[in-house]
Amino acid sequence: MHVDLNELIAGIRAAMDYAVAEEKRFEAEELLDIYREDRLALTVLHEFYNFLPDATEDWVRDIVLLNRKQGIFLLALVTSARRYVYLASDEGIEFHGEAGEGYIATELLDFFAYENTEDFIRRATAANLASYEPLRLDADICPVCHAITGECHELGCVVEVCPWCGGQLVHCSCRHDQLGVDSITTEAQLLQFEVLLEERGRIPYAPEQRPAYLQEGWEEELE
Ligand SMILES: [Zn+2]
Ligand SMILES: [Zn+2]
Repeated sequence: MHVDLNELIAGIRAAMDYAVAEEKRFEAEELLDIYREDRLALTVLHEFYNFLPDATEDWVRDIVLLNRKQGIFLLALVTSARRYVYLASDEGIEFHGEAGEGYIATELLDFFAYENTEDFIRRATAANLASYEPLRLDADICPVCHAITGECHELGCVVEVCPWCGGQLVHCSCRHDQLGVDSITTEAQLLQFEVLLEERGRIPYAPEQRPAYLQEGWEEELE
């Protein structure tokens, strides 16, 4: 389902041939290198370089994190004079205009708890915003479902710890034991299990749940 990371990088490089001036190419490549294993950042860069109409002769200096919640990120690509806002998650990305123009939907303002459009513009154009950390390096984010420390994993995330046995929730037999079935075959059973899980109390993401062997390409194997 996912596009291969190397394909994304190749697509970005091909578009850079047109968008980035020769003498700026090294710096543009350096940024790409920082995010070479980060699917969200690569997807956003790919979108920018391939689809933004006025991307010609403009290139990305930095990616800053405007906001994040429940695996959904509000990122800004910083070019010479502009900040292009993207909503990004495993589900895909959406372009939300330039930060300074505030073309952001009310539901997003609410979701990320901005007071209003002016509040968004003020915070999104601030000078001291932190760069977006590549996900696999940020211990405060589940490397698989991108829940933040203290948030519940997406149901089905392999990192989620089972509240009954302490094992891996997707692998232990507790889901079957709790439902009294041999396997989960219907959506209704899954919903019923979710209710039982909530009643028991789900174990939110914490950095110590990160598998130590993640560095060795374990994430790719899951796809
Ligand atoms: Zn997770
Ligand atoms: Zn279990």
